[in-house]
Amino acid sequence: IEEEFDAIVVGAGMSGNAAAYTMASQGLAVLQLERGEYPGSKNVQGAIMYADMLEQIIPDFRNDAPLERHLVEQRFWVMDDTSHTGMQYRSDDFNEARPNRYTIIRAQFDKWFSRKVREAGATVLCETTVTELVRNAKGKVIGVRTDRAGGPIYANVVVLAEGVNGLLGTRAGLRKMPKPESVALAVKEMHFLPDEVIEQRFGLQGDEGCVIEAAGTISRSMAGLAFLYTNKESISLGIGCLVSDFAQTRESPYVLLDAFKHHPSIRPLIAGSEVKEYSAHLIPEGGYKAIPQLFGDGWVAVGDAAQLNNAIHREGSNLAMTSGRIAGEAIIEIKGRNQPMIRRNLALYKTMLDKSFVVKDLMKYKDMPDLIHTNSRNFFMTYPQLMSQAAQNFMRVDGTPKIEKEKATTAAFIKARSRWGLISDVVRLALAWR
Ligand code: FAD
Repeated sequence: IEEEFDAIVVGAGMSGNAAAYTMASQGLAVLQLERGEYPGSKNVQGAIMYADMLEQIIPDFRNDAPLERHLVEQRFWVMDDTSHTGMQYRSDDFNEARPNRYTIIRAQFDKWFSRKVREAGATVLCETTVTELVRNAKGKVIGVRTDRAGGPIYANVVVLAEGVNGLLGTRAGLRKMPKPESVALAVKEMHFLPDEVIEQRFGLQGDEGCVIEAAGTISRSMAGLAFLYTNKESISLGIGCLVSDFAQTRESPYVLLDAFKHHPSIRPLIAGSEVKEYSAHLIPEGGYKAIPQLFGDGWVAVGDAAQLNNAIHREGSNLAMTSGRIAGEAIIEIKGRNQPMIRRNLALYKTMLDKSFVVKDLMKYKDMPDLIHTNSRNFFMTYPQLMSQAAQNFMRVDGTPKIEKEKATTAAFIKARSRWGLISDVVRLALAWR
């Protein structure tokens, strides 16, 4: 390739595809490079896809995107080893003409998204790993080198959409490697079952879908979350915990996943299923404080490569698509003004991103990652056990006067955490949540 491009996009995940599509559809010369055999072959997600953010990029995506089920129900479970205490929201309002959230399978979805990127006019090369950023004498990024034969490929700007590891940006000194306490390692399996079995087990009709997210003793005191998402003919099931916690406890993610699958609340939901796929991937969970430098001379970073992930709400793909789109729009705007793609001008991307929900949401929860990380034993072991005991004590009818049951429950909480401990947990949680 000898041509100089307006932009090179590294990676064909959610953020890279959003950026490439946005720029190519406005007539920019875009080259997108993806190391996988095909877009999505390397990508792992639960996965819930948030329609609003895709609609802003491809308004009629529902016509042909590979969507699994639209979500009508979300359950959140606090688990101990034998039970779960649940909160659940289900609404027929989610059976709307343009549903808000869908489950997807990334391998299929990313292929579709990439087809749209090509149709919009971008050149997409798979099985091409970008090995290095090329800079000029002033340090401006002016292109990339790949593992393919041939010299560097030049562009006015490089969009780093390379995902959570961000090896390219790290190697180039544009950012630091994410810290182990800022990333979770998640493992996931796909359990195949006939669609009617899934619908019957979860009380669904047609393309309706259900999500279960669970926290508690299942993560063995580590900061973590387990999930179960219904697809058309499969169930995605997984668990993720902070890498620093795995390193400290020496727990194995596979053992945790196995325990989740065998938990009495989960086992009947996947009984008889055939496991066909297994994957593992990192998730950026450091929140606002872990966001690295987002732009510089000749480059911008988007999506997971920029650590833009809202772990509290388990949202990542929507932040990836939005940051990719906004980066694309900023680049279009700068090109329209005939300005160079230098740091001062690319700051527009950050200004636009700051005004979006992406940065506002991460800013809101800026203290949550530290709080959760430093109190994981309380939040993921002590409280789930106490909640379970309290719920069971309340439900079990055994002749014990109710007043004594209440006293016993209060005493159990105080014994486990002390009065001040309880007050301080509530206050710190409330302050971090504000
Ligand atoms: P990625 O999707 O990781 O894409 C990066 C791409 O860059 C990859 O295709 C990779 O092959 C390519 N690449 C990397 N390096 C190079 C290189 N040097 N040269 C060329 N190509 C390169 N988010 C949600 O919104 N909802 C969910 O339900 C959800 N569940 C999740 C469950 C799990 C188990 C995991 C791991 C994540 C989940 N997420 C979820 C988060 C979501 O998957 C990510 O936020 C999202 O995929 C980020 O998109 P991205 O394009 O930035 O990165």
